[in-house]
Amino acid sequence: MKPYDYLIVGSGLFGATFAHFAHKQGKRCLVIDKRQHLGGNVYCENIKGINVHKYGAHIFHTSNKKVWDFVNAIVPFNRYTNAPVANYKGKLYNLPFNMNTFYQMWGVTTPDEALAKLNEQKAEAMAKMKSEGTTEPRNLEEQAKVLIGNDIYEKLIKGYTEKQWGRKCAELPAFIIKRLPVRMVFDNNYFNDSYQGIPIGGYNKLIDALLQGVETKTDTDFFARERSYWATVADKIVYTGQLDEFFDFRFGRLDFRTVRFETEVKPTPNYQGNAVVNYTDAAVPYTRIIEHKHFELFGQAVYDNPHTVISREYSTEWEPGIEPYYPVNDNKNNALAERYRSLAEQEPNVIFGGRLAEYKYYDMAPVIEKVMNLFRY
Ligand code: FAD
Repeated sequence: MKPYDYLIVGSGLFGATFAHFAHKQGKRCLVIDKRQHLGGNVYCENIKGINVHKYGAHIFHTSNKKVWDFVNAIVPFNRYTNAPVANYKGKLYNLPFNMNTFYQMWGVTTPDEALAKLNEQKAEAMAKMKSEGTTEPRNLEEQAKVLIGNDIYEKLIKGYTEKQWGRKCAELPAFIIKRLPVRMVFDNNYFNDSYQGIPIGGYNKLIDALLQGVETKTDTDFFARERSYWATVADKIVYTGQLDEFFDFRFGRLDFRTVRFETEVKPTPNYQGNAVVNYTDAAVPYTRIIEHKHFELFGQAVYDNPHTVISREYSTEWEPGIEPYYPVNDNKNNALAERYRSLAEQEPNVIFGGRLAEYKYYDMAPVIEKVMNLFRY
């Protein structure tokens, strides 16, 4: 008999949730991770008593009550509500686009006034396109202007999007922006989901609780050993690493987009008064500043710690060796991923799951939901 039923490669939310359910069913699991710590991308590093989201800000949100109840039974979540603010040339605007934004942009105070202004701007954009002989937006810039008008596009969309993609909006395809929802109420809650929050005490508590009683090994790369070795360790492999790497990149590499973080301790209790501030002016090189303490500390607790930790986020081209974050959903990469997926289907003893192994962007809640479904929970 092999020592384990499951070898779980990767201790992110997919691997940790899988291990949790399998362990509860009495299966023997070994979780390995090539990093020095467990938790994958939700891992937080404690700096000056603050949980710093080392791999990017993570806000849990879902409308799935089963998932919400499940995670809250593991560790209770706080009342954090994501309400990002945009800074354009020193002036602040609330996001997502809502009555607060329209008031800040145009001074309008009623939904009727705001709608009239929006419609006027959209009509101007459409008229300009028609004068150039088209009614179909030819690029992202035209698409955004037709959907929301020039002012919001110029101040809140253009610079941010160009930094994110590293290309001019006029050179990006229109389909990237399908809809630009607006709210005709004073509501800065970014998500439309029924539930959102951060685990009380941070994400590491969630991961530790999921992995309670499960054997884990960090600093252990699956690819550092032969497959024949792992075959002696467990009956089945749950693989959450990169899909192309599992197959030795035989068809070529899948591309990613990535973000570089510059993290700094500031000798002040409250640097920007909000967890997320977007910088929408192209002249500012970073896209956002995250102030981590605001995810978990509210009211006086913000001031009880005299320090704060901020991270500036820079959208960066990905290359091998840099953390892969977002799959690139263009034709080339989609086709390549399909070829790898058909190889994966021929591996009866391997379960491929999570954002890297499926080459698919997943929020946290759908990852957990997926594992719950696997276990028919
Ligand atoms: P991961 O967390 O990446 O875990 C994979 C693990 O596998 C890693 O620990 C890795 O070290 C390990 N591994 C890989 N290869 C090997 C190997 N060869 N050997 C051993 N171990 C290996 N979701 C939200 O719901 N809200 C958010 O606000 C949010 N923000 C995000 C911000 C960013 C910048 C990114 C990139 C994602 C964000 N997400 C967010 C999505 C969230 O991170 C994912 O849903 C979640 O991390 C997926 O978990 P996973 O287990 O699939 O992957």
